[in-house]
Amino acid sequence: MTFEKMLQKIKNKIHYLILAALLAATIFVWQVVFAQRVDDKIKIDFFDVGQGSAILIDAPNNNQVLIDGGPSDAILNKLGSALPFSDRQIELVILTHPDSDHLSGLIEVLKRYEVGQILETGIADSSSEYAAWHALIAEKNIPLVFARAGQTIKIADNLMIKILYPFDKIDGQDFKNTNSTSIVSKFFYGKNTLLFTGDAEGATENPLLFAGVDLRADILQVAHHGSKNSTSNEFLAAVEPQIAVIQAGAKNKYGHPAQELLDRLKGVEIFRTDQDGDINFLCDLENCVKK
Ligand SMILES: [Zn+2]
Repeated sequence: MTFEKMLQKIKNKIHYLILAALLAATIFVWQVVFAQRVDDKIKIDFFDVGQGSAILIDAPNNNQVLIDGGPSDAILNKLGSALPFSDRQIELVILTHPDSDHLSGLIEVLKRYEVGQILETGIADSSSEYAAWHALIAEKNIPLVFARAGQTIKIADNLMIKILYPFDKIDGQDFKNTNSTSIVSKFFYGKNTLLFTGDAEGATENPLLFAGVDLRADILQVAHHGSKNSTSNEFLAAVEPQIAVIQAGAKNKYGHPAQELLDRLKGVEIFRTDQDGDINFLCDLENCVKK
């Protein structure tokens, strides 16, 4: 065999190996995507983002909803692991209220993901982060909707989010206590119900109770990281949760969750991000099961 022929043979072999490697990579990616979508289950991830809150709802039709983004870019790693590599879109982002332990991570998300729509209250707040958030929304031309009770968002077949609070639009208004402006929403999938509360406190819970809003939910995202000023006995009696999820940072300086609150949750199964890390549920039409 001449030297040229040998070289050609080696080249052919290299081409073949590159092709095989590319093919293997392609199959790998497709398998990952396929594996994610093989059943009709909804994934709900309560991420451990330290002292803050970030929740991802991921439907089999590849529609995703992110409720708050936590206090830092920690959310990016969480999303990177939770979503298929090829999926750089989040269809809806909900900012419950503009405090940094909910907002900061969302700014990073806007920079790196294609966000389809944003739902927020639009209250007045003078923080530079909030200004940066709105500048990014404008720059990227993302449709922005102000929340009010009665809005429903259909995410997939049998999957809906209903806005319960605020009762009316409150955009542009000033509030001393931004926590009490938090968007409260209820998730319905088949027979499953979940209540998302942001950092709602008594000033939010009481009007909801007074108005007789149907708060009953199988899973409750405990408001304000388990603060004692939220999740009253009356509120719990109306929600009747089987499972309570608390998003709080390990050894946080606020002492969240408060012992008083944990006492009120007696008889409810409790999961805490400060102790359990990420808390993931898989829901079919009948049940949500913790993974
Ligand atoms: Zn908070």
